[in-house]
Amino acid sequence: MPKITIAIDGHSSTGKSTVARQLADYLDYLFVDTGAMYRAVTLFALRKGYISENHFDQAGLIEALSQVELEFVKNEEGVSEIHLNGENVEKAIRTLEVSEFVSPVSTISEVRKKLVEQQRKLDKGQGLVMDGRDIGTVVFPKAQLKIFMTAAPEVRARRRYDELTARGHQLSFEEVFENVMERDRIDSTREDSPLRKAADAIEMDNSETNQEDQFHIILQLAKDRIAGRI
Ligand code: C5P
Repeated sequence: MPKITIAIDGHSSTGKSTVARQLADYLDYLFVDTGAMYRAVTLFALRKGYISENHFDQAGLIEALSQVELEFVKNEEGVSEIHLNGENVEKAIRTLEVSEFVSPVSTISEVRKKLVEQQRKLDKGQGLVMDGRDIGTVVFPKAQLKIFMTAAPEVRARRRYDELTARGHQLSFEEVFENVMERDRIDSTREDSPLRKAADAIEMDNSETNQEDQFHIILQLAKDRIAGRI
């Protein structure tokens, strides 16, 4: 069977990673959550003090980027998790604090350059599902299947709120809603690699589609692309 590269982009909290992971499991492809990489750099910046409530030392962070080493490692259940300089930070990157600063960090071209380089190296032609904001436009403009996911803002914020509160985080729906909106605003308006639907991407609004149905729709599209390569 020929293997393809699948790019899944879209707005915040549209379930990109969930469906990307499902697809990769089903097809026995590599799954890469690029949002986790930007989040890990943000966690690094927070821990090292390059970012605090009213201060962002961009130059300092850029200079320290060579100290950032990211790796995806599978846990005992076979789930790929991100490691920052050898430490598993999969949980630590999912806080609202990291979410608040990740979009400003992601506007920095030096950060993007470093991460995009690493992302491209992960494509070894063995089948890849990568999700993010610029996968179909910048990282893999020749991906054989590109999906652009979106959903109504309230639906996305509600999903993220339910997910965070289920994990024990104490926050309000308004805080989550504002964060989701603000990230989309920064991600779509930044100069370097803004969030855009690639011209050849298939747009899917999942405001009213359940996860299972959406998975089957995308899986069928992937199977069609794979068949087209035989
Ligand atoms: O996918 P997730 O919501 O975890 O991504 C967190 C943030 O990382 C996004 O809001 C965006 O600022 C940034 N990001 C990016 N490019 C990607 C993936 C994520 O700029 N390819």
